[in-house]
Amino acid sequence: MTGRLTGKRALTTAAGQGIGRATALAMVREGAHVFATDINVEALDALKAEAEGLAGTLDAFVLDVRDDTSVSVGVDHAAPDILFNCAGFVHNGTVLDATDEDWAFAFDLNVQSMFRTIRAALPGMLDRGTGSIVNVSSAASSIIGAPSRFIYGTTKAAVIGLTKSVAVDYVRQGIRCNAICPGTVESPSWHDRVTAAGAATGDVDAARQAFIDRQPMGRVGTAEEIAALAVYLASDESAFTTGQTHVIDGGWSN
Ligand code: NAD
Repeated sequence: MTGRLTGKRALTTAAGQGIGRATALAMVREGAHVFATDINVEALDALKAEAEGLAGTLDAFVLDVRDDTSVSVGVDHAAPDILFNCAGFVHNGTVLDATDEDWAFAFDLNVQSMFRTIRAALPGMLDRGTGSIVNVSSAASSIIGAPSRFIYGTTKAAVIGLTKSVAVDYVRQGIRCNAICPGTVESPSWHDRVTAAGAATGDVDAARQAFIDRQPMGRVGTAEEIAALAVYLASDESAFTTGQTHVIDGGWSN
C-alpha cells in the first residue's frame, strides 16, 4: 500500500525518544525511507527494532547536531527530501537564573543546530527542486511567555524567525519550511522536568498536576499527536503551507 511519504527520504534529529522517536516511526509507517539520528546509540538500536516490518525503511546512526562535521556527513548520506529538526533542550529559570554558559549551550543546541542541518540539506533539495523542512519550536516562544522558561522561550522564538526566513527565501524553488509549536507533551525529558520540579517543592504529584493544569484540555499532549502534524507538514498534502507556526498545544495559547 502506498503511504503519504512513499518514495521520500526523511532525516530526523533527536529520534531516540519523545517527539523525534514518534515522528520517525510515523514517517516509516507512511512509507518513507527514514534516517533516524540521535546521540543515544541504545535508543537508536531500540528504535530500529521497532521499525522493522513497517511500510517504509529506517536506518539509524549517530548524528550530533552540535557538531558541524557530524551534521554534514550525516546529511550527505541521507540526502533528505524531508528534514525534521527536533533536537532541543529546556532550561528552567528566569533571566536572573540564566548563565552565559546556559545561554550559549541552548542557542547552540536549539537554534544553531537547525542552521547547521538546513545549510547542509538545502543545496541537495534545491538541486532536486523539492524539500520540506519542519522545525520543532514550542508554544513557549514568541507565541506565549511561559514561567521560568527565559532561555528556552528565547531560543524557540528564534526558531520561528529562522523558519520564516528560510521559507521566504526559497518559496519559489520548491522548498517549504514550517515550525511546529507544541504545548506540554509527555516525553522522557518532560518526566525529568516533573521530577526536578517535584524535588524542589517536595511534591512530585503536585508538580505533575501543575503542568497538566496549565493545559486547558486538562491533559498533556502525546508525542504521537505531534508526529501526526509532522507527517502532514512533511507530506505533499501540505504543499500550500510554508513559513507558518503550527501551534498544537491543547488550547494553552488560546
Ligand atoms: P526529549 O527531550 O525527551 O529527547 C531529546 C532527544 O534529543 C534525546 O533522545 C537526546 O538524546 C537527543 N539529543 C540531545 N542532544 C543531542 C544532540 N547534540 N544531537 C542530537 N540529538 C541530541 O524529547 P521531547 O521532549 O520530545 O523534545 C523534542 C523537541 O520538542 C525539543 O526540541 C523540545 O524543545 C520540543 N518540545 C517539547 C515539548 C515537551 O513538552 N516535551 C514541548 C514543546 C516543544
